[in-house]
Amino acid sequence: MYECCNFRRFVRLLILDAVIFSLCAVFFLIGRSMIGSAEENAAKPVPLPVIMYHSVREGQPGQYSVTPEQLGDDLSWLAENGFTSVTAQELIGYTLGENELPERPVLITFDDGFYNNLSAALPLLEKYDMYAVVSVVGSYTEKLAAADPHSPAYSYLTWEDIAELAASGRVEIGDHTYDMHSLYNGRRGCGRVPGEDAEDYALALRADIGLMQTELHEHLGCAPVVFAYPFGEVSPESVPVLRELGFRMTLTCRERVNLITRAPDCLFGLSRFNRSGLYSTGEFMELLTKDLKNEE
Ligand SMILES: [Zn+2]
Repeated sequence: MYECCNFRRFVRLLILDAVIFSLCAVFFLIGRSMIGSAEENAAKPVPLPVIMYHSVREGQPGQYSVTPEQLGDDLSWLAENGFTSVTAQELIGYTLGENELPERPVLITFDDGFYNNLSAALPLLEKYDMYAVVSVVGSYTEKLAAADPHSPAYSYLTWEDIAELAASGRVEIGDHTYDMHSLYNGRRGCGRVPGEDAEDYALALRADIGLMQTELHEHLGCAPVVFAYPFGEVSPESVPVLRELGFRMTLTCRERVNLITRAPDCLFGLSRFNRSGLYSTGEFMELLTKDLKNEE
C-alpha cells in the first residue's frame, strides 16, 4: 500500500515535471522569436523621403516656388497617406539609439530663407501638425532682407523673423552658408574648385560657414546642426570641416529615398526631392513615393 502510494506520487511528479518543462520550452521559443524580430526591426533601415521647398508665394508657381495652396495640398496628402513629418533632432536621436521613428517618416525642408516661409508656410505646418527645417543664407538676411523686408513675394527672412520661426517650435533652422550661395563667386556654391589646395579649401569653408554659425548662435542662442549644400554641390573634403563646425546632418539635392540606420553617419548627404511648383501634388507625390514602395 505504502509503496503503491509512492509510485503514484512518483508518476504524478513525473507528469508535473514534463508539463513544467514543456511550458518552459514554449516560453523560451516565444521569447527567442520576439527578441529575434525586435533585432530584425532594429537592424532594418527606415526609408526616409525628404522634400525640398523654396519659396511659397501666390501667383504663377515655378521650379523653385509653390503656391500656399499647393503646399497645403501636399501636407494634406502626406497626412492622409499616413506620413508623419519628423524633425532633424528626432532623426539624430534615432541614429544615436535614443528614440524610435514613426511608421512613415518624411522630412520637410525649405531652402534659402524666404520670408514667406514664416508668413505662408508656418501657418500650414501648424494646421497639419507638421515640422520643417528652414535653411537660411546669411548674406541674404543681412543685406537683402534688411533693405526690403516682409514682402511675401520675394523678401528674405530678417534675423528677427528667423528667431520667430525657431521659437514657433515647428521649425529648426539650418545653415545654407553665409555668402557661398552663388555660382559666380569663383566656385559652385561651397564646392571645391578643381585643383584647389585642400587646406585653402578648408580655410574658405571655415571662414564662411563658421561666420554663419556664429551669426546664428548670436541671434538664436544656439548654432544649427543641419547644413544644406547650396545647389547640392557636394565636395567630399567639406565633410570633416562641417563635422568640426558641429553639423550632424547635411542635405543635398540628389533625388532618391534615404535609408536611415542607427549609424549617425547616415545623416550626412541626405538626398532630397525638389518640390517644383510645375507639378501637381499628385504628380510630385508619385515621384516622391515611387522608390518608397520598393523599400517599405
Ligand atoms: Zn539654396
